[in-house]
Amino acid sequence: MEPDLEKLEKAAAIISSSGRLVAFTGAGVSEESGIPTFRDPGGLWDRFDPYELGGGDVFAALARGSGFTHRAADFLEEMIEVMERAEPNPGHRALVELERMGILRSVITQNIDDLHGRAGNSRVIEVHGNAYRMLCLYCGRRFMMEKEELFRLGRDVVRMLRKEDLAGVIARISLCECGGPCRLDVVGFGEPVQRMGEAIHEARTCDCLLILGTSGEVFPANTIPSRAREAGARVIEINATKCCFPGLVDVGIVGKTGAVLPRIVEMVSRYRGSGVSPL
Ligand code: NAD
Repeated sequence: MEPDLEKLEKAAAIISSSGRLVAFTGAGVSEESGIPTFRDPGGLWDRFDPYELGGGDVFAALARGSGFTHRAADFLEEMIEVMERAEPNPGHRALVELERMGILRSVITQNIDDLHGRAGNSRVIEVHGNAYRMLCLYCGRRFMMEKEELFRLGRDVVRMLRKEDLAGVIARISLCECGGPCRLDVVGFGEPVQRMGEAIHEARTCDCLLILGTSGEVFPANTIPSRAREAGARVIEINATKCCFPGLVDVGIVGKTGAVLPRIVEMVSRYRGSGVSPL
């Protein structure tokens, strides 16, 4: 379905008059990079149990036995295939362009795929962590991993899980300089989110919040839009299927971010170039 042109123009007019724009993004933004969203039909959580595989306690999970290790191997294998191919899409790049124009101040993301950073945004607040960063379970040290190295590690772990070689898994993930085993630094179900104070500050002090590709079902990240709204910001939402924050938004656009955002950014750059405020 073609998005409503009038709404695109209204969104572009609001954005072009903003100097403190913040984007709040979810899994939908990376859908056009080939990473499936969690809650759409056919998504990962349609086929895998989030409470079994999305928890953060690696040791308790491994102790669950053979049924678990095989399901974990299937899940991990699918994640590796998807993440390895994923590159930033036009939606990610449009946000970089808004930053370059001096409009976008930061990106608050629920995604763990590092695609905003790789696209080139300089201030990305990842409230659910980053799958390319490791966390040592002994000393708490965090460190980034190279893409190739991470996927090699992932494939080794998949092979060991299939053989139910749990001692091998623990030895392979013991990567920290202290000798401790490490896990991905992503927020599991029931674990505290990261950098939420910073995200709330951004929401409270922005003049416009752009909500992109999120169902708004995950707490507490889903409180970001209302915090921005209560502090007086204009709110624009783009979602491929429906408006998930009704009653909160000034403009709600149904469309894919990779298709819609570049068109809005092009309009913004025209408004800015003409020097005339469209509002
Ligand atoms: P979600 O799966 O609950 O919702 C995704 C939303 O995006 C849906 O409302 C859907 O209609 C919309 N959407 C799908 N494709 C789109 C597109 N091309 N353009 C615009 N909108 C699109 O995702 P969520 O709200 O981010 O919550 C899921 C949680 O799972 C997040 O906390 C996130 O950490 C995690 N997750 C991350 C990734 C990733 O890093 N890429 C992927 C899946 C899930």
